[in-house]
Amino acid sequence: MTKYIFVTGGVTSSLGKGIIAASLAKLLQARGFKVTIQKFDPYINIDPGTLNPYEHGECYVTEDGAETDLDLGHYERFLNVQTSRANNVTTGRIYSHVIEQEREGAYLGKTVQVVPHITDEIKRRMLLLGETGDYDIVITELGGTVGDIESLPFIEAVRQLRWELGTHDSVVIHLTLVPYLAAAGELKTKPTQHSVKTLLEYGVQPDVLVCRTEHKLNNDIRKKLALFCNVNLNAVVESIDASTIYDVPLNMLKEQLDKTVLAKLKLSTKSEPELDNWKAFLGRLKNPTNDVVIGVVGKYVELPDAYKSITEAFVHAGATNETRVKVNYIAAESINATNVGEKLKGLHGVLVAPGFGERGLDGKLETIRFIRENKIPFFGICLGMQCAVIEFGRHVLGLKDANSMEMDENTSAPVIHLMEEQKYVKDMGGTMRLGAFDCEIKKGTKAFQAYGKTKISERHRHRYEFNNSYLKQYEEAGMIASGLNPQNGLVEIVELKDHPFFVAGQFHPELKSTVVNPHPLFVSFVNAALTHKKSK
Ligand code: GLN
Repeated sequence: MTKYIFVTGGVTSSLGKGIIAASLAKLLQARGFKVTIQKFDPYINIDPGTLNPYEHGECYVTEDGAETDLDLGHYERFLNVQTSRANNVTTGRIYSHVIEQEREGAYLGKTVQVVPHITDEIKRRMLLLGETGDYDIVITELGGTVGDIESLPFIEAVRQLRWELGTHDSVVIHLTLVPYLAAAGELKTKPTQHSVKTLLEYGVQPDVLVCRTEHKLNNDIRKKLALFCNVNLNAVVESIDASTIYDVPLNMLKEQLDKTVLAKLKLSTKSEPELDNWKAFLGRLKNPTNDVVIGVVGKYVELPDAYKSITEAFVHAGATNETRVKVNYIAAESINATNVGEKLKGLHGVLVAPGFGERGLDGKLETIRFIRENKIPFFGICLGMQCAVIEFGRHVLGLKDANSMEMDENTSAPVIHLMEEQKYVKDMGGTMRLGAFDCEIKKGTKAFQAYGKTKISERHRHRYEFNNSYLKQYEEAGMIASGLNPQNGLVEIVELKDHPFFVAGQFHPELKSTVVNPHPLFVSFVNAALTHKKSK
């Protein structure tokens, strides 16, 4: 029998529901339970694939090619378990399914309404992963904040499910903020009381309060929260600001969040969770013997969430190398031929980020030219790889017009062109080359050195690709295709022979980096940056 944990958010957004859900899941997993996490988002987009990263941060792509919320990245990084399309559901997806059903005549004669039809469809999806029999516990994170109009059907679905499931098969955790008023020198419980009251109006009594706070919660505050929100004293859990998100599972362990939840679910467990690997990772993370500075050149640099998985992949790779990786985000638009040396000064390696559209392209090309010529370690991802190909075409092969057809449809040297299968695509949503594809790596290359094997699989999200009619010319001049898709020959990795580390992939390696499995290309890149630093 699968048990269900629901995580709601109160007072304000951005409290880190995803991290709390992932941390609890980690503790339960470490106690031997099979756990998965799903996220329900209240917006009307079918998925976040068409959203600008400035709206909700990066779009995380799963193995099965779903474009999903970035919290799924946290789930995978913490649990080292893959998620799928079923792990992220939006209001848009719910409505589109119900409306499709209505057109098919599934509700013939009935008025289709939010209650029961939308709420029924939400409930069906909330139970779906549990019904596979693969999990002991399913954690469902509800996006948005309690009190939002658009969250209502989700909360109503939780209310109904709690009634249907019975008292010991579900838990509601409410993540809330306990702000500190500096002028009064006090932590304030009122916002939490109000958000719990709102939940109660909808018929949901939370079992556990996880309280985000900048200061420790003393006993009086805990008692007050417990008394006014109808929860047990031990169900008031402090979540104090942490120096790294990877501390949060241990902080939750100290607060016994896992024990409280398991007791409520009447699940017995071994006495302590097995977290040796996690602690060893934290040990390496917090006690680096070296440090490097890496530049990430991209166009969404004002919002760090836009590159969440890249940032985290550097944390994992840094720990493996026992190296503190400081990541400097640099706006591609701010870089030009005159200032490039100045802008990249002091960097031990540069990553050119994924992206779409022309903004910042010139800055990326100048960056790549500079690091190619000055033999600074380079790592390109997706658009970053395409830029490396364009730069090499223009400055080494002398193809002045070398470009991607994304930037100039009529260029005379389309070294990056639209994939065959994309030529007839009209819709924007969910139509890119998405998800995991195989790649065959050539022996004796940097890519092989990194992976240590020839058969790999990586996740994709793009429409354009390397134009193979230029491949021979590129390889003769020293830019080789070290990874190819074995089915259709698409170039997946390029690298320079004559450079300490110049590797770029059409895929997104950052999406597969986890605490337990840091991504080999990130690990090698950080190592190359370290070698570069030492050589100076
Ligand atoms: N815009 C490029 C393409 O569609 C690269 C996409 C990306 O960087 N994710 O091919």
